[in-house]
Amino acid sequence: MDPTSLAARGAFVGGAWQETAATVGDVDPARDETLAEVARCGAVEVDSAVEAARAAADEWRGVSALDRGRTLNELADLIEQRSEEVAWLVSLDSGKPLSQARGDVRNSVRHFRFYAGAVDKVGGREIPLDDDHVTFTRWEPRGVTAHITPWNNPISIPARSIAAALAMGNAVVVKPSELAPLPVLALAELFFGGPLPDGVFNVVPGLGHEAGAALAGHPRVDSVTFTGSVATGAAVMEAASRNITPVSLELGGKAPQVVFADADMTAAVAGCRFGIVRNAGQSCIAGTRIYVQEQAYEEFLDRLAKELEAVTVGAGTDDPDMGPLITRAQLERIERIIDGVRGKVVVGGVRPDLPPDLAKGFFLRPTLVANVDPGETVAAEELFAPVATIAPFTDEEEALVLANRGEYGLSAGVWTGNLGRAHRVANGIRAGSISVNAYPIRYYHGPHGGYKKSGIGREQGLEALEHYVEIKKVGIRIR
Ligand code: NDP
Repeated sequence: MDPTSLAARGAFVGGAWQETAATVGDVDPARDETLAEVARCGAVEVDSAVEAARAAADEWRGVSALDRGRTLNELADLIEQRSEEVAWLVSLDSGKPLSQARGDVRNSVRHFRFYAGAVDKVGGREIPLDDDHVTFTRWEPRGVTAHITPWNNPISIPARSIAAALAMGNAVVVKPSELAPLPVLALAELFFGGPLPDGVFNVVPGLGHEAGAALAGHPRVDSVTFTGSVATGAAVMEAASRNITPVSLELGGKAPQVVFADADMTAAVAGCRFGIVRNAGQSCIAGTRIYVQEQAYEEFLDRLAKELEAVTVGAGTDDPDMGPLITRAQLERIERIIDGVRGKVVVGGVRPDLPPDLAKGFFLRPTLVANVDPGETVAAEELFAPVATIAPFTDEEEALVLANRGEYGLSAGVWTGNLGRAHRVANGIRAGSISVNAYPIRYYHGPHGGYKKSGIGREQGLEALEHYVEIKKVGIRIR
């Protein structure tokens, strides 16, 4: 799929491509060059997509669960058949290494297949009352669901919520990030003329404060699924609240890695390295606050620094260990934060030496900072960059206090050879996802979401489904 011709098709509304008067440039983060001019939808285009979805919603909700499942499997086939092309687009557009992009596409296919299999096995329940009544609940589609998605996982995050919403019988409108919109446009290209009724799947690319805001606050949207930053999540929630539209918010993180001295150090070093380097730290579950028990601290610091020094950096499509950051503004913001660090930059903090064709890309070496004040920006805020802090702790009690510091609660890593401690610490950390002795342990069919400011609700797995249905209670007097 060629980025220019894919983007030139415009928005995808009512089963057809629609050109828009305005466009927005989509930039290759490895080269700082415009890849394509993408449709810039505004309130008018969003309105027509929502109306197209409304018009299609009744037909789709009338399709039997079995047939919806069959259709979702056909959509999975369509993605799978072109998976290498889609992975290349993901890598090019977001800058992530090709092998990670391939994993994202594989997971996207799995989301469709998981919900294809789930659709005829979930639903309401009988509520026992007495012999004079039959009382039960029904799961009914909400109608039109909105999906506002980020650039860092530009295929798998949209796929997981689109698949769940379609499985439950909804028609969807998707607003991908302007920073990496091509993978969602690729979905529209693959689904075009396919098994879904026209209007059940719509895509409105554009700017967050235009298309995104119009979709979040649209009075004829029945639910909003948002993944992104806390600030934007709050704006989306506020816009949706004007219509009492339910929201699911998957927001930021600042995941702790808690390494006890009794852990397998080789595994812990490798896991912490991966938690920093994966997707250049542009992941809500990036493990960027590392705490190591004091007896093991010096050895661990030394080994992790060596691992980070060996990381290869380059264009995502060349499949290095790590690609670029997403924008120049983000690179410069991170450089300013590193310049202002009051602790010690142990490794990284600089741009890598790269060949001339990548000289303008938004690259940064993986960075480890020690001796920081816990209140400093580098230690307290989500940076969305390959930058981690490291600090020692004495015992389990202190480890839990440190791990639970801050306003996020999305994900955490725990490293220990003691089974009881693994359970105690996993129970004690206030986060939606805990991985013990590997990082991250993620599975496409498990729930994902956050405590505290990391969000509301859960995506993925069976737990996500209630966001996409209205639950109706029915009571029938039978004598
Ligand atoms: P943003 O919050 O900037 O953007 C997310 C989406 O919202 C984009 O499509 C964006 O459009 C859109 N948007 C921006 N402004 C508005 C608005 N006023 N109204 C409605 N929509 C709007 O996040 P990023 O794309 O920068 O993603 C990074 C963030 O996402 C990080 O904080 C990260 O932690 C979080 N994240 C959370 C995950 C989770 O599962 N919890 C997973 C992945 C990321 P546009 O880009 O076009 O401006």
